Amino acid sequence: MRFAPFGRSPKFRLRRNFAYPPAVIRNRGRRAYKVKVMAMVKNITLADEWSTKEILINFPLLVIYLTIGLVGMYLENQIASFLYLLFIIFPLYLVNRYVVCSKCYYFDKRCYMFGGKCSSALFKKREGNYTKFENAYVGIMWMLSIIIPIYWLAIPIYRSPSLLNVTLLVAFLVCSIGWQAVHSNTCCTKCKNFKCGMNRASKHMKEKNISNG
Ligand code: SF4
Repeated sequence: MRFAPFGRSPKFRLRRNFAYPPAVIRNRGRRAYKVKVMAMVKNITLADEWSTKEILINFPLLVIYLTIGLVGMYLENQIASFLYLLFIIFPLYLVNRYVVCSKCYYFDKRCYMFGGKCSSALFKKREGNYTKFENAYVGIMWMLSIIIPIYWLAIPIYRSPSLLNVTLLVAFLVCSIGWQAVHSNTCCTKCKNFKCGMNRASKHMKEKNISNG
């Protein structure tokens, strides 16, 4: 075999590229990239507690999307915006601290949205998996937190579109969907709450973590 201390020669690369159609080479590149990403995801270290970085990435974005929703609704209907504020405080934040956080690994620990400490201050720790009702409750509350403002932000655009209304709706969509995506990628991939339906930690890290106790 030819010795190639500095990698393959340009002549060899040229021959190889002619030997395979571009689609095959492209697919190989994609496959190699996928394998690299999978290996990275597989080995992501799980979080014992959430760091300042995760708090700073996630919490402000959450506050921004809820605030845009509130402001947009206030401009259209003040009562609806007040009811949305009550919805954020009670069913969305406080009730979820009982439903999710009292059974969570991060109960009484530092959490990227301060749920662990808030939950331990208000409730006792609960054991066991989440029930179907609890899983459904969490999903529905987060969905409503996005759907309700979209409705109220879309009404004025339908009536008489203005730059302000369109900007508010677009900003709300970007921040709310962005928050779900950022949270899912920065937190759910390294979360130790394996009971949660949104958990995206790799099987490899889950098994490693369970075997280490
Ligand atoms: S998996 Fe995601 S949604 Fe579930 S508790 Fe962990 S960080 Fe929160």
